[in-house]
Amino acid sequence: MTFAATILTLYPEMFPGPLGVSLASRARDEGKWSLDTVQIRDFAADKHRTVDDTPAGGGAGMVLRADVLAAAIDHARAAHPDCPVMAMTPRGRPLTQARVRELAAGPGVIVLCGRFEGFDERIFAGRAVEEVSVGDIVLSGGEPAAIMLLDACIRLLPGVMGAASSGAEESFENGLLEYPHYTRPQEWEGRTIPEVLRSGDHAKIAAWRERQSEIDTRLRRPDLWERHEGARVQSASGAQAKKKD
Ligand code: SAH
Repeated sequence: MTFAATILTLYPEMFPGPLGVSLASRARDEGKWSLDTVQIRDFAADKHRTVDDTPAGGGAGMVLRADVLAAAIDHARAAHPDCPVMAMTPRGRPLTQARVRELAAGPGVIVLCGRFEGFDERIFAGRAVEEVSVGDIVLSGGEPAAIMLLDACIRLLPGVMGAASSGAEESFENGLLEYPHYTRPQEWEGRTIPEVLRSGDHAKIAAWRERQSEIDTRLRRPDLWERHEGARVQSASGAQAKKKD
């Protein structure tokens, strides 16, 4: 099945961009995913092809009009009725690897890219749109965010990554950061590779990696660690409750 990506944007020339090289490009050549860009401006109703207007209540910048956005969304959805519509916005729910996995297992995505001050809020009440953020940062447009989202989905499509196992051990897949990696030379600027990684003892290596992954997550991402520990405690008490039954 081909994963169908449709991008609604004022700058279609930004695509495929980085998705036109390496792994994503090869996957597209092989028909594992497809890319369609839709120029939002084509859905403007006036002869000046206006897509934005000044913010109600005043203030700087321009706001994308709900009527124009709705026409563009309806057009894309008619072609891909089963694909979720994701709007890129810093006000959205932070994108997670779990959500990316769900999306990659589906038929594709329709991605709405904002510009200027963003979208007229009524579009989210008028159309089924999932608001997504790619981090607590402000980009000048939704296009780089859309490329991030697609890149994350594409690498998970069946047959895209070389070694089947390389997806499962990455950061976030089990709620933790991945353990650190090392490679040759064995000594670099006086620093050596942790001894255990040279031991050849696979069980010991696996235990070391698990421990490092936990330590690094606790130190670097206390938010992830808390969630991970919460889930562990919950599943343990769930198991205990079951035993008592
Ligand atoms: N006024 C908005 C920011 C607009 S930035 C606010 O303060 O919330 C212009 C566009 O860039 C947005 O409409 C959105 O499509 C995109 N964008 C900016 N930061 C983003 C982020 N962190 N995640 C996803 N999209 C983002």
